[in-house]
Amino acid sequence: SMAESRYIWLDGQLVEYEKATVHFLNTALHYGLGVFEGIRCYSTSRGPAIFRLKEHMERLVNSAKILGFRSLPFTADQLGEACKEVVRANGFQACYIRPLIFHESEKRDLNLDSGVARVGIAAWAWGAYLGEDSEEKGVRMNVSSYTRHHPNVMMTKAKVTGNYANSVLAKTESVRLGFDEAVMLDPQGYVAECTGENLFIVRKGVIYTPGTWAVLEGITRDSLIVLARDLGYPVVETQISRDHLYIADEMFVCGTAAEVVPVTEIDFRIIGDGKAGPVTRALARAFREVVRGEHPRSAEWLSYVNG
Ligand code: PMP
Repeated sequence: SMAESRYIWLDGQLVEYEKATVHFLNTALHYGLGVFEGIRCYSTSRGPAIFRLKEHMERLVNSAKILGFRSLPFTADQLGEACKEVVRANGFQACYIRPLIFHESEKRDLNLDSGVARVGIAAWAWGAYLGEDSEEKGVRMNVSSYTRHHPNVMMTKAKVTGNYANSVLAKTESVRLGFDEAVMLDPQGYVAECTGENLFIVRKGVIYTPGTWAVLEGITRDSLIVLARDLGYPVVETQISRDHLYIADEMFVCGTAAEVVPVTEIDFRIIGDGKAGPVTRALARAFREVVRGEHPRSAEWLSYVNG
């Protein structure tokens, strides 16, 4: 079967994969009026566990608030329980979970208040987003010709479906040019984030990352900052310029789908010695331990699906 899972949760109920459909005239499809999450569930010795479920549900509800939904049919807690239900119903040990709150309106105008919010949650098996060997070998990137959103044009703290047209422009260009992923600069010309990942550099033992003034508040980003400080690395949130990337000792990107991935080349400049550096490797190892339930932080960050 083409089905990646047997069930999708839609508006409060598990429905069969093939029946989880939405009408052609749905307004989210036409105007980009949805907010979504990407979450990973990992296999552990205590069964499947969802990484930082509470934070993902908080961000989902905040995204809906930012877009302008005044009421939602479910609370963050109910949606978190529904995520667990989707993993259980499909029998996954490890998977990617995709909740989506989407607009629906008979009026089809551009007023959010003309319609209502509907909610779906799907799950599927998803390998390493930037390639099976990306964590080991690293990836090659370019600085995109497309600029990331100005925070007063699109709301950069919200995972709004419409925002991702900007990511698709940059990602498609990058892959057509022969790279794996694109770095996007903010409207002032400083480094913002990638099309679906946050970004870090390492220079003389200090870890730098752009502040969250114009980028998504990545949950993997937050986790890595905590893990880095646990390991004794100083982490500084600051403005980073394009040429800072060129002279970094190490560069890595992170996101739920991508996880922790070293960047070995940017705009045809080799970073460091062209291999995953020691800080990147230490953080990737800590992250791997956390999600497998084998780290002191695991207890606080994992939600076990089977209790
Ligand atoms: N930036 C963008 C634009 C993203 O789409 C993502 C993926 N959600 C991230 C950063 C990383 O966020 P997270 O670690 O929460 O997945």
